[in-house]
Amino acid sequence: MKIETLAIQTTLTHDANAGAVVAPIYLSTTFEREADGSYQHEHVYSRASNPNRQQLEKSLAVLENGAVALAFSSGMAATTALFQALKSGDHIMVPDDAYYATAVLVTEVFEQWGLSMTKVDMTDLSQIKRAIQPNTKLIWIETPSNPQLKITDIQEVSKIAHDLGILVAVDNTWATPIMQRCLDLGADIVMHSTTKYFGGHSDVLSGALIFKENNALSEKIRTIQKLTGGVPSPFDCWLISRGIKTLPLRVKAQTENAMKLVEYLSHHPQIEVVHYPGLTSHPQHEIAKKQMTGGFGGMLSVQIKGDAKNAMALTGRLKLFTTATSLGGVESLIEHRKSVESADSPSPESLLRVSVGIENIEDLIEDWKVALG
Ligand SMILES: *Cc1c(COP(=O)(O)O)cnc(C)c1O
Repeated sequence: MKIETLAIQTTLTHDANAGAVVAPIYLSTTFEREADGSYQHEHVYSRASNPNRQQLEKSLAVLENGAVALAFSSGMAATTALFQALKSGDHIMVPDDAYYATAVLVTEVFEQWGLSMTKVDMTDLSQIKRAIQPNTKLIWIETPSNPQLKITDIQEVSKIAHDLGILVAVDNTWATPIMQRCLDLGADIVMHSTTKYFGGHSDVLSGALIFKENNALSEKIRTIQKLTGGVPSPFDCWLISRGIKTLPLRVKAQTENAMKLVEYLSHHPQIEVVHYPGLTSHPQHEIAKKQMTGGFGGMLSVQIKGDAKNAMALTGRLKLFTTATSLGGVESLIEHRKSVESADSPSPESLLRVSVGIENIEDLIEDWKVALG
């Protein structure tokens, strides 16, 4: 079955109570026990498991072609659970332009627990090889990266890592399984901020880990999930499941719009550079073509001529692009990334990150035309 069909099939319900086609939301935190001590419906208490979460986790595993998935209350809660499965003294590698909070999570929280981290430019495989230490346990990939859309070769990094028994996890938030199937490319774990494209309407915070194999590591992280309780509410799970039904359609529409906007902006005299993996001029375009088999996605960044002030002013002149952080919703958003991160952020001063929505592309281009003058 193709992914558009799977997105519908995996989120359908076969409801024994009322024959509901759309899943009911199970708000109950506790579930009935039989006189013999068993649980007829396997659920006991909602921190450990809940029908809506169980259904969402099944769908996530199917979409990423994994063996098992675990849902969390945010993307960062998912990342945290994975790092918590590592031991004091372990070393991890992250991209030098990883999602800002991912690296800060290590320096602010996990370093004091004995985890060490090296930031590496993962577009250069020799840098990855050089940064490997005897205690390296995990290589964290983010591709396309945020906000410069650098592309890391998932297949090649997985080969390097697996030769040495190192795990590979990919933050696949930007590409989604519609564009990029990380587990098929060799990664062991996929992380999603399902807050973004999966939810798709900027109204639910949640995250997930999807594992290629159901093994000791996935079970350990399931234990962490149940014990620490960073889980999405039943309603959050329901919203993500609903988002999944239209995920393939939305992402395709956003990608088509992004391609056309990129085409327009890359020829505009006020634009210094457009960062988008679908451009043949993108430094890792060939790798992107190889691994982003579903398309190049709805995210792009532009560096405009001028400085941070000029870039900020432009966001004010755009009427159809709301100036706000986050991404992946049906509405177009724009943000000046460096000022959202911090003074030491590696994002260029003049860079604006754009999450392209599903509006009519002629309107979106016209908006830029007017704003750029
Ligand atoms: C938003 C985001 C995260 C963090 O997810 P939350 O749901 O906000 O916790 C991680 N990685 C990427 C690429 C993101 O865009």
